[in-house]
Amino acid sequence: MYLRSINVPHYLRVTRGVDSAEAELDEVLEGLGYSHPYVVTGKTSAGILGSSIIGRQNNGKGCGNLVCSDNTVQEAERIQQAIGSDPLCDVIIGIGGGKVLDAGKYAAAQKQLPFVSIPTQISNDGICSPVSVLRNEYGFTESLGARMPAAIVIDLEVIQQSPADTIRAGVGDLLSNLMAVEDWRLAHRDMGEFVDDFAVMVSEMAAGSLYGAASGLPVLDIDGQDPHNATFDIHHEKFISTLVNGLVLSGVAMELSGTSRPCSGGEHKVSHSMDAFFGSPASHGAQVAMGTVLTARLHNKDWKALRHFFERVGLPMTPAGVGMSNSDLAQAIYKAPQTRPGRYTILEKESMSEKEVAALVEELWSDSE
Ligand SMILES: [Zn+2]
Repeated sequence: MYLRSINVPHYLRVTRGVDSAEAELDEVLEGLGYSHPYVVTGKTSAGILGSSIIGRQNNGKGCGNLVCSDNTVQEAERIQQAIGSDPLCDVIIGIGGGKVLDAGKYAAAQKQLPFVSIPTQISNDGICSPVSVLRNEYGFTESLGARMPAAIVIDLEVIQQSPADTIRAGVGDLLSNLMAVEDWRLAHRDMGEFVDDFAVMVSEMAAGSLYGAASGLPVLDIDGQDPHNATFDIHHEKFISTLVNGLVLSGVAMELSGTSRPCSGGEHKVSHSMDAFFGSPASHGAQVAMGTVLTARLHNKDWKALRHFFERVGLPMTPAGVGMSNSDLAQAIYKAPQTRPGRYTILEKESMSEKEVAALVEELWSDSE
């Protein structure tokens, strides 16, 4: 048994507007005692929040900036080289979507520098986690240990202007926690794997903060829609801030347990399989949402309620919606146990034949819209 030694962000600032975000960042850097940041942005985020923050930091004592083009190990190394051995640089600020943050977090870990996360999209639980998903030189995606952000600053206006599909994807990734912890408990029962109860609680609370609050979430006011079934207003400030809090807590659950287990089970294997064998037909979160419905059914949980929630969010809940034929999706599910060997989930327990998987795809998605 090990004693916990965890890092959680010292600051979580959810704000509104560029000026306010900059003021919060100044306060955060001052509070943490950092004054010489290196700023990493994405191509789009350079224009959203990046240019003003870079300008402001360079007027002070900024150590430089670069535009990161992808979530590859190579790009993370480019950041490390750019910082070089600058003795002044004391923090890396990442401004952008998941790919930029993943490269920045990994570079920060390699350089043993703290990282400040400024997401411009909330498409997955990497906005505040100790894990970076990066492609290696062979083109394969790996989950690598990275540095938990020391602080996170979010501009709600920026997130409200981000593509709707990125917000929907964030919901898929967050709610996958509910089944990931079921898989973890199963691995404990069947394989004797250690389960971190506290990380499980945090992970379930993270997902429950959104899923369990369904009746209080803002919905779109469309004539004739029953408010209990209506489409969620995913751009509403309340919806976004609830989602942000859930995604941040998911990262904390991973940091607590030192593994992605609380937020990644069989549903993620289905998504990894779509990536590996079908070239990532949809976003990570949309793929994971499909996997979550599937593993909920295998765990005998209320998969219809989950599917209904995802539909109200606007997530695609058909194979065609994630860009796959029924038979391709069945293949992806059938091959899912090949991804992440060693992680035991309901997929390994059930060990379904191709025929059984095909029947399940029909059962789960043939009657959805
Ligand atoms: Zn995920």
